Amino acid sequence: TDLLARVKDLDKGLNSFITVTEEQALAQAKAADERRAAGNATPWTGVPMAHKDIFCTKGVLTTCGSKMLSNFEAPYDATVVENFNNAGAVSLGKTNMDEFAMGSSNETSYFGPVKNPWDTDRVPGGSSGGSAAAVAARLVPGATATDTGGSIRQPAALCGITGLKPTYGRVSRWGMIAFASSLDQAGTMTRTVEDSAMMMNVMASFDKKDSTCVERDVPDYTSTLNDSIEGMTIGLPTEYFRDDISAEMQQQVRNAIAEYEKMGAKVKEISLPNTHLSVPTYYVVAPAECSANLSRMDGVRFGYRCEDPKDIEDLYCRSRGEGFGNEVKRRIMVGAYALSAGFYDAYYKKAQQVRRLIKNDFVEAFKDVDVIMSPTSPTPAFKFGEKTDDPVAMYLEDIFTIATNLAGLPGMSVPCGQVNNLPVGLQLIGNYFDEARILNAGHKFQ
Ligand code: GLN
Repeated sequence: TDLLARVKDLDKGLNSFITVTEEQALAQAKAADERRAAGNATPWTGVPMAHKDIFCTKGVLTTCGSKMLSNFEAPYDATVVENFNNAGAVSLGKTNMDEFAMGSSNETSYFGPVKNPWDTDRVPGGSSGGSAAAVAARLVPGATATDTGGSIRQPAALCGITGLKPTYGRVSRWGMIAFASSLDQAGTMTRTVEDSAMMMNVMASFDKKDSTCVERDVPDYTSTLNDSIEGMTIGLPTEYFRDDISAEMQQQVRNAIAEYEKMGAKVKEISLPNTHLSVPTYYVVAPAECSANLSRMDGVRFGYRCEDPKDIEDLYCRSRGEGFGNEVKRRIMVGAYALSAGFYDAYYKKAQQVRRLIKNDFVEAFKDVDVIMSPTSPTPAFKFGEKTDDPVAMYLEDIFTIATNLAGLPGMSVPCGQVNNLPVGLQLIGNYFDEARILNAGHKFQ
């Protein structure tokens, strides 16, 4: 009840929640007390948390930040939600996000922007800005989030918290509303790396209901947090330390790397030569997949429906026209164009080929290094409205995070300092299914 009161009080100024599930939270807390008394609690029993509003929750609104789903109550729980429920966690509600997870600033949500708790004139990052702000403001110790091109790591960096995007296939996507299915992955937002490891112990599971979920043992991610990192090789990609990133920001990241060297890690300059192609590739692949995934929102089966449709055509057109915001429409148009018969080879197929080159850069790099480090985002939190009129400037916010999704690798952001009183994130990219190693490395730094 203390935390619920804190959410109700402080969230007025942040807008990090779309729905607060007070009744359900109290019922879950009561069940957790009983479970504890019966002696079969897990480390998550009774722990408060929140879910990004992209995860389906039975009997609770799941809006995906859109007018289109502003009245949608899912008939089932996402696997991730079910895993936390089974562990006895207490969900306080659903967190705000960019509409259908498209954005880097949380300004595209139908439910209004989320404010950054460090400076409420600034964005929290996106698209999981609600989860990041809620954790940063200490409304919850942990929240689920998703990352298609940076939506966990970038807001984690801008809000000064820890955010982990696991390997593609490590966590079930079932019940997580799809944006770009070959890139989407659920992950964690927490204050510390240790909490993130604890969340991963619950979230990661094999799930037959997601055909891309990988059947592989889930290690206890907390058991290796304190392992020595002596001899670990850190790769620093030249392309990620660009001249246009402010010297102060680079310095924070370099200071963090110097700490690793003191702990016995070795540093190696590496090259990921196709880095410059990652943003253009992503902005063909992700819109193409989103145009297909979002075709199900047609005003017929669920979600928003326009008033008084004249006929079926009018019903589709107006429901979609009125239900989706501008950024979502832009993506659907770009995606439908890239997939259309005359342009498929020139855009979508070409993007998939370049995607393989980007992945191969990482495969080569991981022959020589254990972990790759870089800044998480090119800038600290920026002001509201600063990039809304320039979609490309907004897209470039994910310049350091997007390649990881195209390759399917795990990545994490941990706070590594401040510039002008705004937090800066250090990104740690690991090899496939090597979450334990980046968690270990991140924990050593904290
Ligand atoms: N900012 C990127 C986009 O707008 C990434 C979003 C995400 O990871 N969900 O597509």
